[in-house]
Amino acid sequence: MTEYPMRIGGEEVRTPEVRQIELPYDGSPVGTVYVASGEQVDAAVGAAAAAARVMREMSLDERSAILRKAWQRLLELREEFALAISSESGKPIKEARAEVDRSAQTLLFSSEEAHRLCGEVVPMDASPAGKGRLAMTVREPRGVIAAITPFNFPLNLSMHKIGPALAAGNAVVHKPASATPISALKLCAILEDSGLPKGALNVITGPGGAIGEMLVRDPRVAMVTFTGSPEIGLRIRNLAGLKKVTLELGSNSALIVEEDADLEQAVPRSLIGSYANSGQVCISVQRIFVHRRIRDEFVERFVAGARRLTLGHPHDPATDVSSLITPAEAGRVEEWIAEAVGAGARLLAGARRRRATIEPAVLADVPPAVRLWAKEAFGPVAGINTYDSLEEAIERVNESEYGLQAGIYTRDIRKAFQAARGVHVGGFLINEAPAYRVDQMPYGGVKLSGTGREGPRYAIQEMTEPKLICWKVQAGL
Ligand code: NDP
Repeated sequence: MTEYPMRIGGEEVRTPEVRQIELPYDGSPVGTVYVASGEQVDAAVGAAAAAARVMREMSLDERSAILRKAWQRLLELREEFALAISSESGKPIKEARAEVDRSAQTLLFSSEEAHRLCGEVVPMDASPAGKGRLAMTVREPRGVIAAITPFNFPLNLSMHKIGPALAAGNAVVHKPASATPISALKLCAILEDSGLPKGALNVITGPGGAIGEMLVRDPRVAMVTFTGSPEIGLRIRNLAGLKKVTLELGSNSALIVEEDADLEQAVPRSLIGSYANSGQVCISVQRIFVHRRIRDEFVERFVAGARRLTLGHPHDPATDVSSLITPAEAGRVEEWIAEAVGAGARLLAGARRRRATIEPAVLADVPPAVRLWAKEAFGPVAGINTYDSLEEAIERVNESEYGLQAGIYTRDIRKAFQAARGVHVGGFLINEAPAYRVDQMPYGGVKLSGTGREGPRYAIQEMTEPKLICWKVQAGL
């Protein structure tokens, strides 16, 4: 079986303790990784601190060229990366291929943004005391950035941290999710082969509760960029002290379907939004609010679509829906569905479980207090509830403690903008399901969904510090 060593200071690192990575679908072995201890955390941060000095001296063009070379290499290795993602995360191979394509775009955007990294001129003499002064800001790298990532998009969510951090002249210590470290380790190898200085990217593998927290506490780390659950995000925030922290956390995304919606578009897009990657997507469409007048038609089409999805092995190109990340997670989702049904929700389709796989589940009239509606389900589940007025729908969307993305289907531009302005989220989609994302757009949440924005241009702003340089031009003033 292939082994995947950690990468610290440009070297492969092995430790006595190993962990088997398994295909979530059936538990078959995929590869072996090594478990880091404090020694490797210390070495990785030390290597990054040394490399951060090299990175900040490199020209924008030199950094951009390395990222572009790695982009080309990633495209050449598309199939190899897709198989690695599908095997470690259990996502269907066609979605894994799409993730590699998106990761390549994130890398390319990062390379392009390196060319555009600049500060601004400050109009000093707008203030009486500023007469005779010129000032500008330059954007300086923060130094060592700790990147901690989840299992559900193991390559692209890593890329959203690593690409912008390197473009901006930082060095990175990356701790991928324990279940899915392989694609991140492979990414590090191609960046090193593309000319990245030794130690500019280090990848350590091991339990977040131990090595993740050591990273967050290390005084040499200037910034923590985290994507994962709200519980861990809050913990990191509390541990990080005065470090810069960005948090991309979970949600229970809502979609409003108005009575004038084009159901030919709304239904298929919602189905993809609810069941892609078995619903293990932070913007998965979980709460669907359908206007009472079109409820029956929407439900009929949606249920028929959910039943048509093909379940199966993630490596089978025909598979639409495969397993969740672990049987335990599937058991949790099953329990939440049972709780909702016990509280009065109507189960319209799916929900049968075999090991870690759950048939796409559709529920109607879900009581808002149950976990399946109020919390992040992170499983192949859509709840459909009805409303009578747009005002009511907006209010009910906003009842959530999360706020990542939401959306509306309507042909009425006034209703669309009423909802766009009234819903409290980081991103709002009109005539699109809220699971939609392209990688250059600003992306991030409000409320429990986090703080800060990703998308290379926006992440680079978070990963650099504006330094003011002020010049007294006219002597004697
Ligand atoms: P977790 O929060 O469980 O884990 C995320 C990462 O944090 C993993 O690398 C984990 O390591 C690490 N970690 C765990 N405990 C600690 C700790 N105490 N200190 C530091 N690091 C720690 O999330 P999941 O992997 O289960 O991912 C699912 C979550 O991610 C969902 O809530 C989802 O919504 C969210 N997410 C948000 C996105 C966004 O952009 N807003 C995008 C995608 C997912 P280990 O694996 O070893 O436990």
